[in-house]
Amino acid sequence: MKGLTGKNVLVTGGSSGIGQAIAVRFGQEGANVAINYRKGLEEAKQTEAMIAQSRIEEEAVQSCMNQVRAAGGRTVLVQADVSREEDVLRMIEEVITELGGLDILINNAGFQISGPSHEISTESFDRVLATNLRGAYLCAREAIKHFLGADKPGVVINISSVHQIIPKPRYVGYSVSKGGMQNLTHTLALEYAGQNIRVNAIGPGATITPINRAWVDDPEKRAMVESHIPMGRAGTSEEMAAAVAFLCSDEAAYITGQTLYVDGGLTLYPDFRTAWSSE
Ligand code: NAD
Repeated sequence: MKGLTGKNVLVTGGSSGIGQAIAVRFGQEGANVAINYRKGLEEAKQTEAMIAQSRIEEEAVQSCMNQVRAAGGRTVLVQADVSREEDVLRMIEEVITELGGLDILINNAGFQISGPSHEISTESFDRVLATNLRGAYLCAREAIKHFLGADKPGVVINISSVHQIIPKPRYVGYSVSKGGMQNLTHTLALEYAGQNIRVNAIGPGATITPINRAWVDDPEKRAMVESHIPMGRAGTSEEMAAAVAFLCSDEAAYITGQTLYVDGGLTLYPDFRTAWSSE
């Protein structure tokens, strides 16, 4: 893809799923990739369970790094919880120092908490917003400061969701965070278009990643999920990464403020496949 070789890219939540596929894809395009992951072993001293979880994440991040290197790119690992401002400031600083600058930010880190909206705790709601929306803003803010300070073009990609426009009952924090992300994409795109900073998003539909472990490995549940998708199947992380690579490339030089839905037709009102409303 034109214009990606030698670029310095930061992918948040890059140790699994869509983020990992994006990191690997940028490596294949000849970019240098900073892979952010959340947990550090040193942080997980309190309980056995936390230590075990951190080890799994460290192994995942190591495997991602190996794949990017095998594809020819330079890699840097950077630990940070994007919901913590001090972590974000340190992460951006570290990436700029290690890679010698930053050209592309991929706001991918995200998670969801389910439950009836009238029972979700304030703390749960805030935690989802703090990572998915505020974290994306904080990373974008620091990246844009760097782009402006270095007087160079920059690209920000938000990994949003079809749920930025389709409501998601029982996932109110997630749904609201992605709705906010659409506005974040629009606002930053408009504000910085004149400085050659492009801000776009992708809106993945149902994608086979760990966030969907509730249904990906259960054939019955997976068939139910896929029956709702016009193209009849869930998407892959690599298909999401391809759309991200395009939006970051020079092929998309005149595109800003847009969300590219990569969803097998999920945003096309699948219930209208037959003309039931006019029969
Ligand atoms: P995933 O769980 O594999 O990846 C999410 C990553 O974010 C993990 O590596 C996790 O450690 C990291 N993360 C979570 N909180 C963090 C924090 N505070 N700081 C730093 N990192 C943090 O799931 P995924 O499906 O690959 O999700 C990636 C993005 O894609 C998310 O933003 C998600 O909302 C979005 N998305 C996924 C789907 C899907 O069907 N899989 C659909 C639409 C949108």
